Amino acid sequence: MSGPSPSERLGLHRSLLTSQLLQAAATVLAAVATLVLGQIEDVTLFVAGAGMIFVCAGIVVLSPRDDLPSWLILVAPVVDVAAIGLMRESAPVAGIGLLWAFPAIWIGSAFGVRGVVGVTATVAAIIAYQAFDGSQRVAASTFVLPFTLAALATMSHFAARRTRAQRALLEKQSAELRRSLERSRRQEDLVTEVLDAVDFGVIRITAQGEYSVSNEAHARLQAGAGSLGPAPAVYAADGITPLVASETPFARARAGEAFEGELVWFGMPGDDRRALNVTARHLPARDGVGAGTVVVSRDVTAEELALRAREDLVASVSHELRTPLTSIIGYLELALDDDALAGATREQLEIAERNATRLRELVADILAMSAASRHGVGFALEPAATDVADIVAGAVTSVAPRAAAHGIRVDASGVRSCPAVVDAHRLRQVVDNLLSNAVKYNTSGGVVLVSVEREADTVLITVADDGPGISPSEQGRIFERFFRADTVRNSSIHGSGLGLAISRDIARAHGGDITLTTEPGAGSVFTVHLPQKEGAASWSSTS
Ligand code: ADP
Repeated sequence: MSGPSPSERLGLHRSLLTSQLLQAAATVLAAVATLVLGQIEDVTLFVAGAGMIFVCAGIVVLSPRDDLPSWLILVAPVVDVAAIGLMRESAPVAGIGLLWAFPAIWIGSAFGVRGVVGVTATVAAIIAYQAFDGSQRVAASTFVLPFTLAALATMSHFAARRTRAQRALLEKQSAELRRSLERSRRQEDLVTEVLDAVDFGVIRITAQGEYSVSNEAHARLQAGAGSLGPAPAVYAADGITPLVASETPFARARAGEAFEGELVWFGMPGDDRRALNVTARHLPARDGVGAGTVVVSRDVTAEELALRAREDLVASVSHELRTPLTSIIGYLELALDDDALAGATREQLEIAERNATRLRELVADILAMSAASRHGVGFALEPAATDVADIVAGAVTSVAPRAAAHGIRVDASGVRSCPAVVDAHRLRQVVDNLLSNAVKYNTSGGVVLVSVEREADTVLITVADDGPGISPSEQGRIFERFFRADTVRNSSIHGSGLGLAISRDIARAHGGDITLTTEPGAGSVFTVHLPQKEGAASWSSTS
């Protein structure tokens, strides 16, 4: 036998022990029966045989379970075969030969075909010898017994082989399982290491709303928020609207909501505060079962404070500029009222007044923008029932002199009467800005088409020009504050880059938006969408 594995050794020990104990028990039974029936012819020989079996069983019982001596595996059944031979010799009519079944079964299972042949040949030899020397009668059993023992040993050999094959398969599978387990543990460790290495908080919330994974950065952010107090007050993005517990991003994510980049403030306004930017995304469902939500949070306190500081600075500088500017413009107007002004001086004063007025408009834009973003709610509107066509017509009239000076025709034939509830002052600001852009960025001989129409529940104001258009790379940024296209930034066309941002905020405050379609070289079309609630359309007939 070539080096059995520890588990095979244990198996061998257990089956040898079982075989030996059963055989010893059968020997006791046979001895008692033979004694009672008075069939023992040579007591000494019988006791010697039985004694050998018990000694053998005793050695197996006492041998260590996990370190069965190799010699015992062969010696025990060989001694048993011989002992049974002796007992059979001493009690010829008792049928003691049946006890050979035990060593035959064991040898068949432990030594395979060689064992089967060996045990059958040995037993047949003993039977033949005993028949030959006359100690046993020759009966049918003389021939049947070796054959039966051979059959038993063979069956036991096949059964053992099957068991060994099954065990090998099981061991292979369990090794594979161990390897997969190790692989997935390594993978898990890697994911945890990566998650802990990043500086944004990551948590996973199960479909049942329980936290299942969280990284070190998340714990740090929580500890940072916790340092503001045991249960710091939470505020919305504007920093002043308090949020109740169920409105905080983490509570909403636990309730199964998904959202992108929500800003929350921890801590009271005026105190030490922290701003977190939180994103919650649903994980893809597996086997139709929701896999939960992953929540990523980032500490944006420094960025937010810097942003606010910049806005505060811009707002206060603009505010401080407004008063002296108003005074400058006032005195320039007074000076221009003087009829005695010399022609050249008048011209210089007019240039100064034009530039001062532009400066005042710029300051007004910046103040409007910073007021809107400071409150985080956009523009405060004063809506009233108006005809949008009147607002647009007013804007067209006011841009007409500038358009004429640029050699540009403004065509307002598409303006239809569209009664709506809007903030007329703010909407005029939007149309003024779109028309002014369409004129100032256009080239001489260009055309600007203006239209107002109603489509279902939406009033659409369209300002289309055939000017230079806007390049694809700049289209996405055109509504950003202070953004100006590369081509105009270094040109003589003045602008602040705030007009479109303010216009879009105003449209959005109306519940609408501004869209742009443009083709470089072929012009731009800006469309203002103003949704109107049911009934607004009938305003003209009821007023
Ligand atoms: P401003 O006109 O003061 O620069 P706006 O916010 O109104 O600021 O416009 C932002 C930029 O968009 C402009 O600087 C210009 O580059 C581009 N733009 C706006 N309207 C047009 C237009 N009709 N045609 C071409 N470019 C335009």
